[in-house]
Amino acid sequence: MTVQFEDSYSRKFYYLRLSITDVCNFRCTYCLPDGYKPAHKNSGFLSIDELKRVVSAFAHCGTSKVRITGGEPSLRKDFTDILSMISSQEGIEKVAMTTNGYRLAKHAQSWRDAGLTNLNVSVDSLDARMFHQITGENKFREVMAGIDAAFDAGFEQVKVNAVLLKDLNSSELPAFLRWIKDKPIQLRFIELMQTGDMNSLFEKHHQSGVSIRNHLIANGWLMKVRERSDGPAEVFCHPDYVGEIGLIMPYKKDFCDSCNRLRVSALGKLHMCLFGDYGVELRDLLQEDKQEVELIARIQGQLADKKQSHFLDQGHTGMTPHLASIGG
Ligand code: SAM
Ligand code: SF4
Repeated sequence: MTVQFEDSYSRKFYYLRLSITDVCNFRCTYCLPDGYKPAHKNSGFLSIDELKRVVSAFAHCGTSKVRITGGEPSLRKDFTDILSMISSQEGIEKVAMTTNGYRLAKHAQSWRDAGLTNLNVSVDSLDARMFHQITGENKFREVMAGIDAAFDAGFEQVKVNAVLLKDLNSSELPAFLRWIKDKPIQLRFIELMQTGDMNSLFEKHHQSGVSIRNHLIANGWLMKVRERSDGPAEVFCHPDYVGEIGLIMPYKKDFCDSCNRLRVSALGKLHMCLFGDYGVELRDLLQEDKQEVELIARIQGQLADKKQSHFLDQGHTGMTPHLASIGG
């Protein structure tokens, strides 16, 4: 290892969230309610060679897990090649993706064969009509078939993300618990985060995860210990359930204390935080392998400026218009 990426609060970065596109085919109410609209005159998303140089630099500085995200990462035609490239980098032990599941049923096996080790699928409701209402797409059955295909392809566990939305899916906890009783699914409830483009939706639908947490604890669920490359979810297990519940509560005090990830956007900007005020250009240093020393120095130079917290609780949303723009 050349150096270890570490910030001035002694947080070490084992985990890279790599966005490979900001394009998406869904219209989630809290993300792209009007569908995808290109917001930049871009020079194209990072090519596979540029992505390789990003991953290589991070791997040389202690990163062992890469999550591919977007937009919808599977919309990239070279997605399977990107998976193979990342999984073959020395030091990368986990290759994860977050997907809306649209292409999962067809590709679960080939993605696994290409080196995908961890899979997060977004399913905001177990009711097909509510799913349609929240995501703008009538694809509930296809997404559920995708999860089945992932198990058939050999994934031992699938993580499912559900954004907690008051008055939309907030009454579905019993249905979600029944679903995971006999299935190795880690169901992660994510509190709705306010972003720049979001208007009244946040006030209308934000719901704290605390009531779920209290319900779980009162019903015999136990909190698990975090591993070093794990995300910020509090994970609960129960002897009667094969599945697990995760809670991601970004408004909780101390949420950022365990931050272990850095982000690179599909256009090659380094983001210290999902809710930061700026991105740092890396693309000029992604053109040749021999630039790696300079690339690492630029990333390291930024770590001193990584803030202690996202300050979301004070209404700060930084430059992020919606999570598809940087990679949620
Ligand atoms: N398109 C893929 C998907 O939906 O899984 C990957 C990108 S999406 C931005 C990543 C995750 O962020 C999804 O689970 C989505 O539900 C979540 N997300 C998006 N906007 C959010 C918001 N404002 N608050 C909380 N979670 C959000
Ligand atoms: Fe697309 Fe994911 Fe955003 Fe939904 S949350 S609009 S699937 S990027």
